[in-house]
Amino acid sequence: MQKTITVIRGDGIGPEIVEQAIRVLNRIAEKFGHTFCFQNVLAGGCAIDACGTSLPEDTLQKCLNCDSVLLGAVGGPKWDGVPKEIRPEAALLGIRSAMGLYANLRPARLFRQLAAASPLKPEIVSRGIDLMMVRELIGGAYFGAHVTAEEKGELVAHDDMTYAEHEIERIARTAFSIARKRDHRVISVDKANVLDTSRLWRKVVGRVAGEFPDVKCENMLVDNTAMQLVKNPAQFDVVVTENLFGDILSDEASMITGSIGMMASASLGEGTRGMYEPIHGSAPDIAGKDLANPIGTILSAAMMLRYSFDLDEEAACIEDAIDRVLDAGYRTADIMSEGCMQIGCREMGDKILEQIG
Ligand code: NAD
Repeated sequence: MQKTITVIRGDGIGPEIVEQAIRVLNRIAEKFGHTFCFQNVLAGGCAIDACGTSLPEDTLQKCLNCDSVLLGAVGGPKWDGVPKEIRPEAALLGIRSAMGLYANLRPARLFRQLAAASPLKPEIVSRGIDLMMVRELIGGAYFGAHVTAEEKGELVAHDDMTYAEHEIERIARTAFSIARKRDHRVISVDKANVLDTSRLWRKVVGRVAGEFPDVKCENMLVDNTAMQLVKNPAQFDVVVTENLFGDILSDEASMITGSIGMMASASLGEGTRGMYEPIHGSAPDIAGKDLANPIGTILSAAMMLRYSFDLDEEAACIEDAIDRVLDAGYRTADIMSEGCMQIGCREMGDKILEQIG
């Protein structure tokens, strides 16, 4: 298989962590007989410095003309004062909307070797946490009209939450397709006892569920889901929900697994092309010190193999290698605990490469 991957190293620790992910992808290509061609582009603060804008046209074109995008992180205090249209984060929104990435996937998996990092009680953690949060990314309250106006002598604010059937249908299909690669279970989260958008959501998800008879589908109210995530996270496989609920629940789900440096994400649209990135930012406090944990980025690269290139075995090979490195007691500073061996970002890359073989 031959694939072209657009690479945005970005700012802060971005270049260090992306480097390790590229080394891993190259090793996987060698081992399984694929060719991955990397095209490097600028976005974020480094692009502001080089081109005066956080999202140069060449970057956008290369994101639109490739098989997938791998991103480190963008931003940092150096660019805090720039106008908001060209801020580093604006580049990400620009790429997501130009690529039509409407589905945000965040796996929340607790590595058993890092169980102590979870804020949940050991008896809950011991049942395991391995779920996939699928959040609708370009609809709902965040994209409706936002208005604040004076009415009857006081300020009144309105945020319009709108969903059309086709927007729900496509994210539901994404969730069910992902469930087929996992444990064949979907929980759809809404607030159908109150909101019309949620009643439509439930109806459309139910209809799409009919196309996937091999996947079990249940509905859960968002307030109950927030409780269940901390009470019994082991019950979840794939969770699909709208933008606002997903924003909150995906942070909650990430938190219960412990360290931010371990967390991967994907944003998908129509077709197979996606953008893959760790959930953390550019960590300017540790940039250039070889302290960053590259695992979230390497796991994002594994997601690219699984969800964009349909290379399940190759993705599993990376995930298993990480598992074995953690088993052997190697840790970057952010996940360090007593009795383990602390290593840097590059050495963590080396250890994972060794395990891939
Ligand atoms: P951050 O995620 O960069 O850092 C928060 C804390 O976590 C820091 O102490 C950092 O050292 C640590 N950390 C983060 N990633 C780590 C890793 N891989 N290994 C070890 N430790 C890690 O959040 P922040 O400090 O609020 O933001 C810094 C910059 O990143 C800001 O400019 C922000 O706007 C930007 N940001 C970018 C993205 C993105 O590119 N997608 C996302 C969030 C924040």
